[in-house]
Amino acid sequence: MSESVESSGRPDVVIIGAGPAGLTAAYQLSKRGVASTILEADDVVGGISRTAVRDGWRFDIGGHRFFTKVPPVEALWFEILGPDDFLRRPRKSRIYYDEKFIDYPLAPINALRSLGFLEAVRCVGSYVWARIHPPKDQTNLEGFYAARFGWRLYRIFFKTYTEKVWGVPVSEIEADWGAQRVKDLSLFRAVWEALKPKWIRRGQDKSQQVTSLIEEFNYPKYGPGMMWERAAELVTARGTKIVFESCVNTVHHHDGRATAVTATTDGVPTRYDCTHVISSMPLGALVRAMDPRPPAEVLAAADGLTYRDFITVALVVPEDRVPWDDNWIYIHAPEVQTMRIQNFGSWSPYLVKDGRNVLGLEYTVLERDPAWTAPDADLIEQGKRELEQLGLVQSADVEAGYVVRMPKAYPMYDATFKANVEVLRTWLAEHAANVFPVGRNGMHRYNNQDHSMYTAMLSVENIFGADHDVWTVNVEADYHEEHTDSAGSDS
Ligand SMILES: Cc1cc2nc3c(=O)[nH]c(=O)nc-3n(C[C@H](O)[C@H](O)[C@H](O)COP(=O)(O)OP(=O)(O)OC[C@H]3O[C@@H](n4cnc5c(N)ncnc54)[C@H](O)[C@@H]3O)c2cc1C
Repeated sequence: MSESVESSGRPDVVIIGAGPAGLTAAYQLSKRGVASTILEADDVVGGISRTAVRDGWRFDIGGHRFFTKVPPVEALWFEILGPDDFLRRPRKSRIYYDEKFIDYPLAPINALRSLGFLEAVRCVGSYVWARIHPPKDQTNLEGFYAARFGWRLYRIFFKTYTEKVWGVPVSEIEADWGAQRVKDLSLFRAVWEALKPKWIRRGQDKSQQVTSLIEEFNYPKYGPGMMWERAAELVTARGTKIVFESCVNTVHHHDGRATAVTATTDGVPTRYDCTHVISSMPLGALVRAMDPRPPAEVLAAADGLTYRDFITVALVVPEDRVPWDDNWIYIHAPEVQTMRIQNFGSWSPYLVKDGRNVLGLEYTVLERDPAWTAPDADLIEQGKRELEQLGLVQSADVEAGYVVRMPKAYPMYDATFKANVEVLRTWLAEHAANVFPVGRNGMHRYNNQDHSMYTAMLSVENIFGADHDVWTVNVEADYHEEHTDSAGSDS
């Protein structure tokens, strides 16, 4: 069990990271009268949930829907931002496949028309076949999807997109990723959700909805960063200190407890003594920062945790060149590298200006890939080419372009990640029980904002004596979301 304040007196908490998890922890502590210190490596708040601003245009890293089945998180969103700054947005997305656009969530008539009668019959046949002869290995994502949608639909709707996201064959990704996202969804359920009468939908409460099939969601009018900028203002007003451009590289520990954290700003190290550490920095990096250093096998597990990095190429176009109102379009086309296109004007009219819209072409890569260090101008040219190739917007209509890089956007769910996380968790519990890993990369878990925040909320309660098992968030049924998007993902 982690160390609570009862055994250590008044808490002096250092929080690593000013993303949703770190700021939520600071906010919850401030409500208990505790002013903490947040050390943030970057010069802005929000982490992956920031809103990037370039020349007055605003765009997300991906699009961030505010939807949760965790009531305390929902309440906190409204407490921090207030209802007036939330927009209620209709959700619309489609899949681009074989030069056609297919509605997602599936609309049977539209799907039938887009796929053609013969292909639709083949898909249903393939689904029935998979129900009768389920794939033997459903521990990997390919088997998992094929069992729920049939092999044919899996190849049409899941394979290309998933391989673009992860950069490896779908069979090399653990099914956990699918389980955290599609859970009970299957072809049958998707069709039922599309066909079922409105009166049944109206009667459903949130817990019965499939997250990715929701028709509306909340969105802060200036983007998700607005939530975290407001949270930062609130905690600062209550005495919390946020130290920007301050990268944590050492966590000092002694006798089973962390005693201090050292962070470096402009090459100058500063040591912060503390009674507790709440950490949203990547779990592997946290363990590598421990001083004294953990044994070789623990460091090897830390090195085993890897990530996919994320590039957004944001292209400004005249509003009338984007006649569609989808929030995003999944690109299941192997001939282009972009995996999804955001339509930021559809997320919020406050993100765009001057009769213009911004399209965000998304790419996942590795920091060692040439694309990561390619000049922005080259990436913008590639984005323009791909938009034209897809028949969406003529390259000549693009008036300006911006590139935003976000390292470690996706914690990799490969064959060894679970075992590696377990090694790190166990080692931390034994050698630094007052260090609380929270959030997405902090726990190496595919957590959205809500679950990232919830882990921080529960960790603060643990500091004050509760005994929550934070590692069960987004794993056990109570916390689980039914979550799919083609195809995928929101995130
Ligand atoms: C493409 C995409 C789409 C998404 N869509 C959605 C969505 O629709 N809805 C939703 O709710 N969620 C979505 N998410 C998930 C959401 O972005 C994350 O759940 C959330 O940002 C995680 O919060 P966090 O605080 O745990 O981590 P982060 O946001 O990663 O923040 C961690 C912070 O720690 C800092 N840090 C790291 N290392 C150090 C260090 N050594 N020292 C000091 N500071 C450090 C980082 O700079 C960062 O600011 C999406 C994610 C992606 C990638």
